[in-house]
Amino acid sequence: MNEGDGLVARNLVKRFSKDRPSAVDNISLSVSRGEVLSIVGPNGAGKSTLIQMLLGLLVPDSGTIHLFGEDVTRHRRRIAHRINYASTDLSLPYSLTVRENLDVFALVYDLPNPRRAVTRILETFSLGDLARIRVGKLSTGQIARLGIAKALLSSPEVLFLDEPTATLDPEAAQEIRVLLQGHVRNSGLGLVYTSHNMREVERLSDRILLIESGRMVAEGTADELCRKFESSDLESVFLKSMSEARESQGITASDQKGSVCG
Ligand code: ADP
Ligand code: MG
Repeated sequence: MNEGDGLVARNLVKRFSKDRPSAVDNISLSVSRGEVLSIVGPNGAGKSTLIQMLLGLLVPDSGTIHLFGEDVTRHRRRIAHRINYASTDLSLPYSLTVRENLDVFALVYDLPNPRRAVTRILETFSLGDLARIRVGKLSTGQIARLGIAKALLSSPEVLFLDEPTATLDPEAAQEIRVLLQGHVRNSGLGLVYTSHNMREVERLSDRILLIESGRMVAEGTADELCRKFESSDLESVFLKSMSEARESQGITASDQKGSVCG
């Protein structure tokens, strides 16, 4: 993809310590407008490190990241208002109400008509009935919904979500999925998304990037990956690809073997 179109990252490397292998080791990816890319890998694979670099919050040791043609590490200020981020790890002020939280962020984002933007996002995310409730009183699912509403308040062109449904029950996770699907369809948003839930990844993603120990294992559509790993579904793709990646790195993963179908 052309550097000017969306997000293009090439050969990213991040090593936190000399005694340990790189957390991200030569990963490249791209995301266009209206496209959903899922980054999938086991705990510690480097997903969050990768997202933090793409956001410009962590400086890569080497490699390049361009968003809308701008170099993210050098010109973060120029693109910061065009992207946003949500994660279940990120907490919102508990003593403020839902509306107050969004009002504060509308000011931070310097929106031209903050009141209208907040009202619209409350409607879109079915948060109207909760507008006067303090965040501390919300359920985990409602907080996740508010986190994503907050991130979409600024009408970003690319949204980064780090495990947005990880702590949610299936019903709350499904709500988030439906909202995201609708938003991507209607707004042309580019979405970079991490998840462990392979059924969710299957439903939401246009393309999937599989990573393990900081390295790219495979990349493609769900169909392409199923063909490549001779699997009938993404769950099997995940198990098989991770097992193969570990074998090729000489790491024994006996608990992974034999659990693969296809
Ligand atoms: P994931 O999000 O896929 O679970 P992370 O990106 O959080 O993986 O972590 C990748 C590796 O980098 C892990 O080994 C983790 O311990 C290490 N790591 C992540 N952040 C830091 C940090 N700030 N300092 C040192 N090591 C880190
Ligand atoms: Mg993580």
